[in-house]
Amino acid sequence: MDGKALAAQIKEEVKGGVGKLAEKGIVVKLTAVLVGDDPGSVVYARAKEKACAGVGMAYELHHLPGSATEAELIGLIQKLNTDESVHGILVEFPLPKQINKWRVLDALSPLKDVDGMTAINRGRLLAGEDGLFPATPQSCIEIMERYGIHLAGKHAVLVGRGETVGRPLILMLLGKNATVTVCHTKTQDLAGHTRTADVLITAVGRAGLVTADMVKPGAVVVDAGINQTEKGICGDVDFENVKPIAGRITPVPGGVGSLTTTLIMKNVLKAIELQGIG
Ligand code: NAP
Repeated sequence: MDGKALAAQIKEEVKGGVGKLAEKGIVVKLTAVLVGDDPGSVVYARAKEKACAGVGMAYELHHLPGSATEAELIGLIQKLNTDESVHGILVEFPLPKQINKWRVLDALSPLKDVDGMTAINRGRLLAGEDGLFPATPQSCIEIMERYGIHLAGKHAVLVGRGETVGRPLILMLLGKNATVTVCHTKTQDLAGHTRTADVLITAVGRAGLVTADMVKPGAVVVDAGINQTEKGICGDVDFENVKPIAGRITPVPGGVGSLTTTLIMKNVLKAIELQGIG
């Protein structure tokens, strides 16, 4: 399943949405807040700037020094919450040690939380209500849906219960009426579970964790893992050997990760809808 092609398709849809709002005089704007100089976060912040430009969305980066206090960061977020020209706010993680992540997220307006990180949006997901939800797990679902894979009644086995990908995915899969099994480091007989999957999703961060003997013939395999190896970036699944067995499979790179930035842009449009604008 080609994440890049889907990303291009969704990007056009988002561009169309941004264009329609522009006709009504609304300049769609995403704001990112970066504290310190974590190299990964700096790269992501730049990637989002480029992605915004690609869909005609305004982008503003607030870069605070690594020595910034929690009160300074919360003060900035409160200002952005009430700034009507700002529709989405992203806080880049990790934050420096002196700043408590949860106090910062509690200060963020759930209606502008386009990364779906606040307790309110997590609660809405838990309750099966509409809200703003994180992009990477959404990407796993979106890829399958756009390839016409119906999750209702399927046995979905998820490997990984991390805060950013695995946990939200459990609820998204349930929301699609899949029967969900969740595996993690304490799971006994991982292969025994994965072999029963109609849909196998990995969000672990271990290269080569899922081998060909762990996959049921014809299963759909979605790999959200990103691992830096000597051979380059790869996922959690041994792609070359699993591909001939799987019915459908996402590559890494070019799969789940290709959609995430575009889905954040899509979340900005959703945020505008939830804010009752436009
Ligand atoms: P995380 O919080 O570290 O969670 C990893 C999960 O994998 C944990 O639940 C852990 O189990 C489980 N796990 C680790 N080793 C295992 C093993 N040998 N067998 C079974 N389960 C195992 O990571 P995360 O933040 O959720 O991210 C997961 C992966 O997604 C990473 O590779 C990350 O780079 C990638 N990611 C991709 C994107 C994207 O855009 N595509 C975005 C974010 C993250 P325990 O709970 O028992 O420790």
